[in-house]
Amino acid sequence: MFDLRDLYQETILDHNRRPRNRGSLADANRHAEGHNPLCGDQIRLTLLTENGRVKEIAFEGQGCAISTASASMMTEAILGKTVEEAEALFREFQEMVTCTGEPVEHPTLGELTVFEGVREHPVRIKCATLPWHALHAALSGTDSASTE
Ligand code: ZN
Repeated sequence: MFDLRDLYQETILDHNRRPRNRGSLADANRHAEGHNPLCGDQIRLTLLTENGRVKEIAFEGQGCAISTASASMMTEAILGKTVEEAEALFREFQEMVTCTGEPVEHPTLGELTVFEGVREHPVRIKCATLPWHALHAALSGTDSASTE
């Protein structure tokens, strides 16, 4: 059993209750879907990129509090970022939650560091990283309708 108090911090609970950027973009030029069979989380991400920058982003789907809050906070974090900056955040987030050594500072992740606690709960890591994997897939054009 994991300690809910450690994991479900106030920020996570808030984003789970009121997810930001929820929905689907009609004019998206990139999209991807993600599925975490371990927990049952499902996410569909739509993005509009313009001149190499994330102009709009939205997500929909069903999942646990961790995956929903992670998706919500991710959309806020990468809105307005360049594709390269978004990919860099993806790598850093991934590193933070999978790192097994001493905790390292991640100043560029800002509020996203609330997810650092999931490294103690391997089952939850996939919940937290699912939206980021979908983002990576969307940006690398795996499921993209983009002509860029
Ligand atoms: Zn989950």
